[in-house]
Amino acid sequence: MAKYIFVTGGVSSSLGKGIIAASVAKLLQARGFAVTIQKLDPYINIDPGTLNPYEHGECYVTEDGAETDLDLGHYERFLNIKTSQANNITTGRIYQHVIQKEREGAYLGKTVQVVPHITDEIKNYIKSLDAGHDIVITEIGGTVGDIESLPYIEAIRQLRWEMGKDNCIVLHLTLIPYLSAAKELKTKPTQHSVKELLGFGIQPDILVCRTEHSLDSSIRRKLGLFCNLDAQSVIEARDADSIYDVPLLMLKEKLDTNIIGKLRLVDRQEPDLTRWKSFLGRLKNPLQEIKIGLVGKYIELQDAYKSILEALTHAGATNEVKVRIIPIQSASITKENVSQTLSEVAGIIVAPGFGERGIEGKIIAIQYAREEHLPFLGICLGMQCAVVEFARNVLNLSGAASTEMSADTAYPVIKMMEEQQHIRQKGGTMRLGAFDCELNPNSRSFAIYNQRKHISERHRHRYELNPDFVQPLDTAGMIAAGVNPQNNLVEIVEIPSHRWFVGVQFHPEYKSTVENPHPLFVDFVKECSR
Ligand code: GLN
Repeated sequence: MAKYIFVTGGVSSSLGKGIIAASVAKLLQARGFAVTIQKLDPYINIDPGTLNPYEHGECYVTEDGAETDLDLGHYERFLNIKTSQANNITTGRIYQHVIQKEREGAYLGKTVQVVPHITDEIKNYIKSLDAGHDIVITEIGGTVGDIESLPYIEAIRQLRWEMGKDNCIVLHLTLIPYLSAAKELKTKPTQHSVKELLGFGIQPDILVCRTEHSLDSSIRRKLGLFCNLDAQSVIEARDADSIYDVPLLMLKEKLDTNIIGKLRLVDRQEPDLTRWKSFLGRLKNPLQEIKIGLVGKYIELQDAYKSILEALTHAGATNEVKVRIIPIQSASITKENVSQTLSEVAGIIVAPGFGERGIEGKIIAIQYAREEHLPFLGICLGMQCAVVEFARNVLNLSGAASTEMSADTAYPVIKMMEEQQHIRQKGGTMRLGAFDCELNPNSRSFAIYNQRKHISERHRHRYELNPDFVQPLDTAGMIAAGVNPQNNLVEIVEIPSHRWFVGVQFHPEYKSTVENPHPLFVDFVKECSR
């Protein structure tokens, strides 16, 4: 049976529960334990696939095609493991399942209630990751005291009671604010948040305290006294330069040995963080700095393109280059300002997306990159825009477009996939998850992927390069460098005469990890730093 660690949050949202959970997991993994992480989200959407990035940041996609919370991206990047639908459950999914069972008559005439039916369902989902793991870490979204997270807190209380404290611990992440007027760190909000947890029957086993200043021993003792904890179980989590520093900061605080002791695990080895540290070494000692433009419509939101930013960080470290990302609002790009806007960047990425806003700006930026031999990586919608641009300005197909933006264009170079045309429901119905791609041996991508003919990448889209235009594009100099072997869908386009011009229908960013940086990003950054 696996041991369980629950991660709850108090005082404030955005404290970085996902990063703390991933860091704990990393340390335990480095000690030789098989670890996985799960996120329970208290909202009623079945998954975040239908959420606007303004609401919830990036939607992360797993191999099995689940549209999930962006924290799963952190889990994969930190642990170098693959997650799946089972790693992200929402209240919506739990209720959907319970209601479906009720309709089937599975409750045999009983009244269906939050306790025990919803809480049982939560417990089943938590335990579904048991097999094959020594430790399951479960992060509870939201902040303790939120109405919507109550059933989760109750489920944890029950699990602790059933499994015993040696098998199941609660790590509570909280904030210790610094009042500059008083020049003091304040513990009261944390005391209240722990009281709130106690009110629900849960004594946290470890407090992890986000803070801008160091916690001295007297503050740790005070927090311990008010929260029933020994001072060693009050852990300081100072703001770090990089999220990738956090596992080492937690190691310094001995969080891993503390957990191992509390869970009565037999320690296996000193943590092996060799690859992690060598990544950090390269991340922190760049030989040069480059600027890369990220052209998109949600650029003011840090979280909207999370996986792309992290993939660039991995690729930068691999090349010993600091990548400074210059966010560029696509809607503000015009023919007049494009050369000025892109004058300082060494290359551009055109981001994924949906809908009309900012499309023409993306196309103008791509035309500039193509004509001026600026390295270009187009991802999903970014690739589709590159095809539209090439069709309009090289094939001279005036008004060429994607039918997503312009349903009655004379030249639908990007069109809705056949299999999508009869779908009416929005949630979970895109082409999602991992699909095979066969690379053209004469392409740049083939070389970039280390001469592998068969690759697999993750997807999230409804539109595709219209097969009728593959030949004309090829003749004019834009080749299909990768296609899906089952249905011939074009997965990669390239312009061989260009310095570095690659558009991908898939999302390479989802698969880049600290220990396996994605080759497309690595090669793109390498070219940009030349
Ligand atoms: N909107 C485009 C499609 O559905 C691109 C999607 C994306 O960029 N993820 O095909």
